[in-house]
Amino acid sequence: MRSGLKHYINGEWVESIGTETEDVINPATEEVIGQIALGTKEDVDKAVRAARAAFPSFSQTTKEERIELLERISEEYENRKEDIVETITDELGSPVKISEKVHYMMGYMHFKQAAESLREISFVEERDGHTRVKESIGVSGLITPWNFPTNQTSTKIASAFAAGSPVILKPAELTPFAAIILTEIFDKVGVPKGVFNLVNGKGSVVGEAISSHPDIDFVSFTGSGATGERIMKNAAETIKNVALELGGKSPLVVLEDADVEAAAKAAVGHIAVNSGQVCAAATRVLIPASMKQSFEAAVKQVLPKFSVGHPREGNRVGPLISEQQWKRVQSYIEKGMEEGATLLAGGTGKPEGIDCGYYAKPTIFTDVNNDMVIAQEEIFGPVMSIITYDDIDEAIEIANDTVYGLAGYVIGHDAETLRKVARSIRAGRIQVNGASANFAAPFGGFKQSGIGREWGDYGIEEYLEVKTIFGY
Ligand code: ADP
Repeated sequence: MRSGLKHYINGEWVESIGTETEDVINPATEEVIGQIALGTKEDVDKAVRAARAAFPSFSQTTKEERIELLERISEEYENRKEDIVETITDELGSPVKISEKVHYMMGYMHFKQAAESLREISFVEERDGHTRVKESIGVSGLITPWNFPTNQTSTKIASAFAAGSPVILKPAELTPFAAIILTEIFDKVGVPKGVFNLVNGKGSVVGEAISSHPDIDFVSFTGSGATGERIMKNAAETIKNVALELGGKSPLVVLEDADVEAAAKAAVGHIAVNSGQVCAAATRVLIPASMKQSFEAAVKQVLPKFSVGHPREGNRVGPLISEQQWKRVQSYIEKGMEEGATLLAGGTGKPEGIDCGYYAKPTIFTDVNNDMVIAQEEIFGPVMSIITYDDIDEAIEIANDTVYGLAGYVIGHDAETLRKVARSIRAGRIQVNGASANFAAPFGGFKQSGIGREWGDYGIEEYLEVKTIFGY
């Protein structure tokens, strides 16, 4: 059994003031793997006091000291690789290979990248008769979701540390244990007392206490749009800065000259990785009407290669995070059928031969109209909608016909069309031809996908204020 019964405040593991606990469940087996304490507002107050006390000295550390701290963290993070991979496999139900190649790796890259990006930031600049100084924004509250337990936490923490900002982290209650390993890493490498604080608990209690706390200067949140809105409202009362990374309904535009098999493989990959529980996943696949038949055939061929099943048994697709999420995905699949989309593969219920664990069938809908609910709402599961277009302007119009703007994808050959599509999609991050992730590149959304950017130098800037000094 794993334990998350203590919070970490002011450099120590401490008993929770809140006395309630909650079980954490492995979604692959439905077994209880541990418990967390459900913290209270008082636990948050205590953490904020510790962070406040740490602020004057941490915010005054030199850039070199903070680079060195981030490097020590990266090194110790590597030492904990096996634990991190095991933990994410158990708490998220992620296939072992994905736990290592995606989850472990992304967390590592954020600490490495923050050190690199920090080197490039000038904290004092003389410009046009005044001095510009970048200073830490203050005490930062970090609220993270369950879908990428190390990525979501590490990008926020690494950026905050780079900027000299003490933090209070509230990880998702469904996946708290990766954050506990991170806390052990910070403890081991000697992150100064009060600079990192962990308070476990519910969003409705601990999350609310953070977003409305008058002594917290900035809240960085990743999660659902509804919670993002709530956090922004709470933060407004004390004019707190916020960074919000919310949902998406990202398009993958397949060009006429694209390789059909490669495009089908990429599209299926989007709904398979992390069981489609990825905010930037391409869930609307836009294909030329002339390619419809060949693309559908290619998707049907590729799909069986993504075997669904136990994360430790070599499968490529694990379960969804919870029963609640499983039911939500089922209701969207039902909705798609009701709306008149054609079910090309998958459907409701559990995959054949599986009765335990929250597994869903990777589901492909075709003949989807962009007005349908399955094309407009974020499902957060392995469900693809195939939509046809007649010309590239129509493809762009459909791609942008969404309240979201987190990401966009384009696959094809003609350089001019690739560029036109990339430049026309209203979203924060456009990937061309499956290029691999660049951790220096800003990540964040347009429109209702959020406010602010994470990763690299832009990520660090979120935790900095600009001061101008003139007169001497
Ligand atoms: P998801 O659908 O990904 O679970 P949520 O927005 O519900 O998205 O959760 C993301 C994070 O936000 C979690 O850590 C959750 O506990 C927290 N959270 C939920 N409700 C609130 C709230 N009212 N205030 C602050 N944080 C919240």
